[in-house]
Formats: sequence, structure tokens, C-alpha cells
Amino acid sequence: MNAHAGPGLAQSDPLIAEALANEKARQQSQIELIASENIVSRAVLDALGHEMANKTLEGYPGNRFHGGGQFVDIVEQAAIDRARELFGAAYANVQPHSGTQANQAVFFTLVKPGDRILSLDLAAGGHLSHGAKPNVSGRWFDSHHYTVDRDSGLMDYDEIEKQAEDVKPHLLIAGGSAYPHDIDFARMAAIAKRAGALFLVDMAHVAGLVAADVYPSPLPHADIVTCTTTKTLRGPRGGLILSRSEAYASRLQSSIFPGVQGSLHSNVLAAKAVCLGEALRPEFREYGARVVANARTLAKVLQQNGVKIVGGGTDTHMVLLDLGPQGIIGKQAEDALAAADITSNKNPIPFDAPRPADWVGLRLGVAAATTRGLDEAAMAELATCIADLINAAGKSELDRVVPGAKSKVASLCRRFP
Ligand SMILES: *Cc1c(COP(=O)(O)O)cnc(C)c1O
Repeated sequence: MNAHAGPGLAQSDPLIAEALANEKARQQSQIELIASENIVSRAVLDALGHEMANKTLEGYPGNRFHGGGQFVDIVEQAAIDRARELFGAAYANVQPHSGTQANQAVFFTLVKPGDRILSLDLAAGGHLSHGAKPNVSGRWFDSHHYTVDRDSGLMDYDEIEKQAEDVKPHLLIAGGSAYPHDIDFARMAAIAKRAGALFLVDMAHVAGLVAADVYPSPLPHADIVTCTTTKTLRGPRGGLILSRSEAYASRLQSSIFPGVQGSLHSNVLAAKAVCLGEALRPEFREYGARVVANARTLAKVLQQNGVKIVGGGTDTHMVLLDLGPQGIIGKQAEDALAAADITSNKNPIPFDAPRPADWVGLRLGVAAATTRGLDEAAMAELATCIADLINAAGKSELDRVVPGAKSKVASLCRRFP
């Protein structure tokens, strides 16, 4: 052991030890349907908890500012090589501490303060780091947003094209946190080109599905692609920057360090390398296919039970519910599910109210539950419980529905530990 002398966590810090133990028990006894979560492997946790965490390094493999980096160099190079192979990228930077910082580094590379960016509207499923007002990206750039078609809930490329010609953005961004459908990346690239914009795709939510070849890859079409290693990719917290060409390589390298970050998180790099290695195995393709099949089952069974799905279904791990027909808000549905040990989050739906307290959407994702082993039959059972809870939420019936749903969830947790 290279940990400095002292007792283990249970003795040295009971407050934190107990919170960790309770968190583990919480994860085991609930069905996790927050779309940005997943369950990492033991191998990823081993890397995260390793003494490599002690090592400080800046720079890139073979070109460091501190000594003693030979083993971290092996780890970072493996992560780079695996990311390139997995996504068919000529360039990969594996250092971003988060998806948000990966995006910041891309902005630092491609645009200047005051430049125009055009991205998916937050209520339509966009992300804060794509120019939302409270984010630094919204302060520094003149940000404009496209939305989805009000009836279909899908991106309307003709409208986006018109808006792009009008706004003339320096950077067009595709991708988001709550858009559960395929995106026509070739069309978006053509729109960017006509408008004289560079094209960034943030595939944070779907990176694992792209890796498993069950969602279209943006790599052939975007100038730069960013993602997280969490979510469907099933790795540690962190980000990646990828590109099909080396055109922006040296600028991206210096945008991450020293542009927006300092020293690297060496142990996290090891965990990223492990997760990318796992995603290269054939089993991961099967996992990706099961994730999409499970999400489609969830959407179908919910619809059969009177729950409205934004966009009518899903092409991803995610299903977005419109609670308008039930006349309840997202928070009521979230609480009803929580009472039966199902974890989810309220979410805006396209054209939703600005205040989170008024949102009428609920976002569900099946990446973590699929890792746990739930198959389509189990997902259908879970979906029936969810529909019962949602149909009863906000009414006195809820008290009668919760106990049955809770015991079904407990039995699913036992069957799929
Ligand atoms: C989750 C997400 C991010 C942010 O990732 P963090 O690691 O939480 O900073 C960025 N973009 C999109 C589209 C996301 O869904």
C-alpha cells in the first residue's frame, strides 16, 4: 500500500464512511432511471481508487513538465489509442475533466468572445454549456438557439437551415441532453457549411451507443466531436475531444492545457482507458443494442398505458414523457416514482415553461438498468409500474398504487442485483 499511514476510512472518518455505505445501498435498492447515469465496472473503480491519483503531471505523453511520468504516459497513450480506434478518430484528447470543459476547450479553439453560436434550445433538449445564459458560454458568445417542430418533437432541418442563413453563426452545435432521436449529422454539416460555420457535435449522452454502432456516428461529419465518458459509455466522470482529422490537433492540445485546465487527473485517465477498452469488446455492442431495445420497450408500454412520449418514441437510451394529459408537473411524477424506489428527473419538454417548478416533462434513461441486467420483459414490468404511478400521481389513488409498485421494484432489484 502506498497510502500514507493511518486507519481505514471506517475508523478515520465515520461520517463519510457511512454516507458512502448508504449511497451504495441506495444504488442497490433502487432502479436508476436518470438518463445520465450508469454503473461502472469493478475494473473502472479499481483504476479510480488507485495510487496513480498521487501523481501530478502537466502536458502530454513524452512532453511533461514533471518527472516520473513514464507509467501515466502508458496509460494516457492507451486511452488515446483506444478512443481513436473506438470512434474512428484521427485525433483524440482524453484529458478533459468533464464534458463541459471539453466544450470550453473547443470554444477556446474555434471561436472568440462575441462570436455567434447556434445550438439546440435548452427546453428542446440542449445543454447549458452550449450558450445558455447562466453558463460562461452564454456570457461570452452571442448565442442563438434552434428548436424542434412543435407537432413532431423532431428537429426540423429546413427551419434550422433558414435560421443558420439568417444568424450566420461562427459555430453550429448539434447534440444535447434530452433529444432522444437520431440526428442527421450529414444534413447539419451541410447547413453549417452553407452558413460558413464550423460544426461541433456534443454526443455526451449517446457516445456509448455510437461506440456500439447502434446510433449514427457524427465523426465523419463534424469538425470536432466532444463527449463525456460517463452516461452510455459507462466510464468515469470526464470528457473526450475527438476529430476525424488532425486539422485542429495542436490548437486543441493547447486549449486543454494550458488553456482551460492544469494538471491531469492521472487515476481518472487510467479509468478512462479501462472503460474505452471495455467498449472495444464485442459484449459492448450487445449492451448497446439491449439499451436501445429496452428504451423502445419502455416507450411502447408507457404509451399503451396512456402516457404521452415526446416525439412518439426513442432511438436512444432515453424516453422523454409529456405529462400534459395527466395534468401533473414533472416534480409530481418524479416524487411518485421515488416513493416506489425508482429514480428519475423532471425535465423540460419542447416549449415548456421557463421555471423548473412548472416543467411538465420527465426524463427516463435505461443505460444503468440495462447494465444491471434488466431485459425487455423486466423493462415491460417496470414500465407498467411507472405508468400506474404516473396515472395516479397527484391523486389520492397514489397511496394505493405505491406499495404494489414498491414491492415489484424490490423484486426486480433482487432478480438483477
Ligand atoms: C452531460 C452533458 C454534458 C456535461 O458533462 P459534465 O461532465 O457533466 O460537464 C455536456 N454536454 C451534454 C450534451 C451533456 O449531456
